[in-house]
Amino acid sequence: MEAIRIKGGHRFRLKHGPQSEVEERLDVETVGVSPRGHHGLKAKMHVKEGEEVKAGQVLFHDKKNPDVKFTAPSAGTVKEIEYGPRRVLISVKIAVDDGKGTVDFGKVDRAAIASLGQEKVVQKLIDAGLWERLMAFPSPGVAPVPGKKAEPDEHGNVPELKVLHAVYVSALATEPHQADPLISLEGNEDTFAAGLEAVKQLAPKTWLFFEKGKKVPAKASGVTGVQTRAIANKYPACETGVQVFYTERLQKNQVAAGLSVEDVLDIGHLFLTGGVRNERIISVAGNAAPAKKHFKVRPGISLADLAGANADDGLRYIAGGVFTGEKVEPTGFMAPRDRGLVVMKEDRERTPFHFQRPGLNQFSLLRMWLSGFMKDKVGDPTTSNNGEERACVQCGACIDMCPVDLMPNLVFKAALAEDIEKMEALGIHDCTDCGLCTFICPSKIELDQHLQTGKLLIVKEG
Ligand code: SF4
Ligand code: SF4
Repeated sequence: MEAIRIKGGHRFRLKHGPQSEVEERLDVETVGVSPRGHHGLKAKMHVKEGEEVKAGQVLFHDKKNPDVKFTAPSAGTVKEIEYGPRRVLISVKIAVDDGKGTVDFGKVDRAAIASLGQEKVVQKLIDAGLWERLMAFPSPGVAPVPGKKAEPDEHGNVPELKVLHAVYVSALATEPHQADPLISLEGNEDTFAAGLEAVKQLAPKTWLFFEKGKKVPAKASGVTGVQTRAIANKYPACETGVQVFYTERLQKNQVAAGLSVEDVLDIGHLFLTGGVRNERIISVAGNAAPAKKHFKVRPGISLADLAGANADDGLRYIAGGVFTGEKVEPTGFMAPRDRGLVVMKEDRERTPFHFQRPGLNQFSLLRMWLSGFMKDKVGDPTTSNNGEERACVQCGACIDMCPVDLMPNLVFKAALAEDIEKMEALGIHDCTDCGLCTFICPSKIELDQHLQTGKLLIVKEG
């Protein structure tokens, strides 16, 4: 079968990426659990400061969705529960002590996983805090639990029941500076296969995407019944929304869920051993990273242990990739879904007459800079925006760049006007939040942010 080629997008070549070498950072004194990435989560705590916890014990859940649980990645003592403004939970810090034990969720032989049935698989994932990994597309938030009835809202209205139609596992990382999933897979093929057996039972379809020219991870592990597809390596081919767009479009009442290789390994480990997995591969990259490589770490490792971060270093820490990542305080921790950390020098200098300079040192795909004409250019990204937001000049660059055929220049205007009908008519639900339109826009318009706000408004308005 021919590999999928996506429209738009780009294969980025950036300086300061992670080497494939792996260093171990498993021996740490503190880990933290952060719900970062779950916007609007209201935490209901299950533990108090000073309490001893086992690895896998529930620390907190989302009040709005009790199936979204967060469990302790390591055993120890709860050292601190940190809240931000309006009592938004930042993290639960645990002083590691492996002697406090592990919650036993019950192990299942590889051969028996396939006959467990959907209900048991789902319940095990919820109990072990792994359901939160199934991020829904196109609805923001976590995928609905199969078969669960929608709860009436405060007005007694029962919201539309969404159905989990497919799970997309991405065995490629096309976003720059993200950890290579093939490094995670090496030597863990059996665990991955066990995880896929469990994932297959969550929805009618399971897709496994891998990079064109690389081996098919599922076949290598002997798993059948998973639809494997090769896709050309350019960003954002790794995003769930793109994979949905190029395979099977969803009906209005359907959602898909995306999982990474590390998520599937966590699921496989849970079924094979009955416990939570206490290691993962994370990359560290960026122009200020002390070491640009992969690390085998404890889940919930602190930025201090991973990259020597300290509150006064003046650096910018971004958990996730350069397009979709989120700024994290240097005192923070890696969240369960984070696959990479980017460390950048803060570039606060403004270049005078910026647009009158040739831009040989600027990384741009637009031909308004000389670098835009250089084939196979290697970018050296900085944190500078190189200017303020200006009016749209109708150049069409965002349309050419969008991998899912949207016209971001029109959708963002509909989002600003809070015109839900127009946003939907323009296909806002296909947006994958890849950020490429914002990156390419010469007017510095935060297009993806406006689209995200528009999508949240649609959810709020029902
Ligand atoms: S609209 Fe922008 S963020 Fe959304 S998919 Fe297109 S390029 Fe990506
Ligand atoms: S890239 Fe920016 S300036 Fe160009 S059409 Fe899109 S929104 Fe307008």
